[in-house]
Amino acid sequence: MSDRINDMAVHAKYPHVFSPLRVGHTTVKNRILMGSMHTGLEDVDNAADRLSAYFVERARGGVGMIITGGIGPHPTAGHGAKLLDDNGAAMHREVTDAVHAAAPDVKIVMQILHTGPLAGTPDCVAPSPVKSRIGRHAPNELTEEGIEEQIAAFANCARLAKQAGYDGIEIIGSAGYLISTFLVEKTNLRSDRWGGSWENRMRFPVEVVRRVRQAVGPDFIFVFRISAMDMLQGGLAWDEVVSLAKALEAEGVDVISTHFCWHESFVPTIATMVPRAAFAGVTGRLRKELSIPVITSNRINMPDVAEEVLARGDADLVSMARPMLADAELVNKAFEGREDEINTCIGCNQACLDHTFTGRMTTCLVNARACRETELNFPPVATPKSIAVVGAGPAGLAFATLAAQRGHKVTLFDAGSEVGGQFNLAKRIPGKEEFYETLRYFAKMIEITGVDLRLDTRVDADLLRGFDEIVIATGIEPRKPPLEGIDHPKAVSYIDVIAGRATVGTKVAIMGAGGIGFDVAELITHQGTSAALDIEVFAREWGIDFANHPRGGVTGIEPQVARNSREVTLLQRKTTPVGQGLGKTTGWTHRLTLQRRGVRMVSGVDYVRIDDAGLHATVGGEPVLFDVDTVIVCAGQEPARSLHDALAGTGIASHLIGGALEAGELDAKRAIRQASELAAVL
Ligand code: FAD
Ligand code: NAP
Ligand code: SF4
Repeated sequence: MSDRINDMAVHAKYPHVFSPLRVGHTTVKNRILMGSMHTGLEDVDNAADRLSAYFVERARGGVGMIITGGIGPHPTAGHGAKLLDDNGAAMHREVTDAVHAAAPDVKIVMQILHTGPLAGTPDCVAPSPVKSRIGRHAPNELTEEGIEEQIAAFANCARLAKQAGYDGIEIIGSAGYLISTFLVEKTNLRSDRWGGSWENRMRFPVEVVRRVRQAVGPDFIFVFRISAMDMLQGGLAWDEVVSLAKALEAEGVDVISTHFCWHESFVPTIATMVPRAAFAGVTGRLRKELSIPVITSNRINMPDVAEEVLARGDADLVSMARPMLADAELVNKAFEGREDEINTCIGCNQACLDHTFTGRMTTCLVNARACRETELNFPPVATPKSIAVVGAGPAGLAFATLAAQRGHKVTLFDAGSEVGGQFNLAKRIPGKEEFYETLRYFAKMIEITGVDLRLDTRVDADLLRGFDEIVIATGIEPRKPPLEGIDHPKAVSYIDVIAGRATVGTKVAIMGAGGIGFDVAELITHQGTSAALDIEVFAREWGIDFANHPRGGVTGIEPQVARNSREVTLLQRKTTPVGQGLGKTTGWTHRLTLQRRGVRMVSGVDYVRIDDAGLHATVGGEPVLFDVDTVIVCAGQEPARSLHDALAGTGIASHLIGGALEAGELDAKRAIRQASELAAVL
């Protein structure tokens, strides 16, 4: 029986967040845990020091509990790291010792992950040979002996985790990984005692839990992660979710963690377009059915959101995973009333999940130091320099604040009246409201690091005389293709459209289908409240039924996406499918949203001219007239380097970062990373 949230309030502003909780045999000091994320550090040989530094920083940052990235229990578990024998436990021991030494009151729990049909290897296994939509291979059907071997492997891995010094384990039984495929009818076609009826389908997780508990004994935290809503047609019914959770509780699980996806589902569950804490209410319903604590998660990125969720009684613990990449000190900052210093996770996935799913090391767009704690540091400088930074976009902001934090005397100039550069356009796009948080963060950091900010100041070479170092972060100029009629009144720049300075007609062609072309299409077809700010709108747009909870939580009927009456065509010259270059884990959501709004997407376009009739082009060699009122030019960008070139002409050296250095494939991730790397060495 858990100590439910009670009257042990210790904190005036976040009484629920900062009250301890009894979990199994022990107590967790507060209600925020760092959720499991596979960073890639687990998979690097001899990287215990890097992994330790990464976790130690988060442990010192105040979380009550850390759950590691997934560790495989069996050779078939997937590409990632595995813990199969005593030799493997040694590396883990280094990590657990480091965390316990740095923060003895923080629990570190190892996640056991068997990816089953998503393992990506020909020897992958599952209850039945049903290939996942996103799997590389059809899985091999497990025999009875094979099932027994897998159960024994989970128990062995848990035992080794205990031996390696962890405080507990989490088993992931969701997301389309091995355990969840036993539960769902369409991936479990068996007719033996492991398939068919619900009792048979849940036998595998129940048996795993029983054997794991026997292996680790009572004094070891045991978290089990279930899909409380798998976002899958034909997924689990609500009564099955409840009965599974109760059965796991009866077998000795200490905490039920709720997850809200199968990776193959067509509903975004953690992207920035998902409202904050959208799924917590589902956890709340499950919590009423159980007597052990429950964890909720998904888009809970600030302490006030966590506090609200806990105060509503939706959960006993809140999992914040990506927010801990963005800011390792989030919990301490909340405790000390320094929330405005939190570098908020904006849910972009650009440097975390997009990296994970493309085999690259995880880091964070807003915090380039994440997962690079041993190599990217900002120690105080012995000899402060006077540094001029021109441009207060993401690159200039990141450089200026980090350099000032090191002790340099930094002056930051921008021609505009507010900091943020292009982020001031990005924040206006429905679904990108989180970008305001990054601007708030940098504004606060400017204040506390003592950067001398000079807005409304267009800098020329003369103004930069006398500084020890000059950093040019002047960003980009929108590309103006050399096309006949490009200055016709029908042709407008994306900047004027997003800033609200241009009139947009009812029939529109968007020239260029990169990230900005997609954002502009979103903006001009949008109607009503942003789904990111309203759970009901979000549910309607993605076909989720939170109230009735049909199987999987999804209605299966065509989602209703509000749209205005504009006819929009999104064009590109490439012959590849439109939107192919968008983010790995979020691109599909943008493509689907625009398709549902009726946006036409045309590739293989050669532009000819713009005139009173519209946009003339050829598509596949055939002449086509796009009969439109407005052509919005989103044709990429060129570096804004005139200041740099003028300085070079006078013999003054400067450093170039962000878009000013290279506009091709520029994004804020690269801009902030370059800025951080320069600030670390200057
Ligand atoms: P900028 O942001 O362009 O900043 C340059 C600054 O320099 C400006 O503030 C400008 O006023 C100032 N400046 C220029 N010349 C002078 C001068 N002579 N004197 C003084 N000041 C000067 N990126 C992502 O990673 N993810 C996204 O989801 C994303 N969405 C976007 C959505 C939109 C609508 C837009 C427009 C961009 C988006 N981007 C996104 C791109 C991202 O904003 C840019 O990559 C990033 O802003 C580049 O940073 P920067 O600091 O190099 O340049
Ligand atoms: P982009 O992604 O490079 O796209 C530019 C588009 O313009 C492409 O469709 C390109 O495709 C077209 N184009 C290039 N040269 C052209 C020319 N001469 N004439 C006509 N069309 C031309 O750049 P962007 O959309 O401007 O975005 C800038 C950066 O911001 C991107 O690199 C992106 O990473 C970032 N961003 C990211 C997001 C996000 O959600 N992650 C959102 C917005 C912006 P064709 O050559 O095939 O026509
Ligand atoms: Fe959050 Fe984006 Fe950083 Fe990932 S990369 S942790 S989503 S801010």
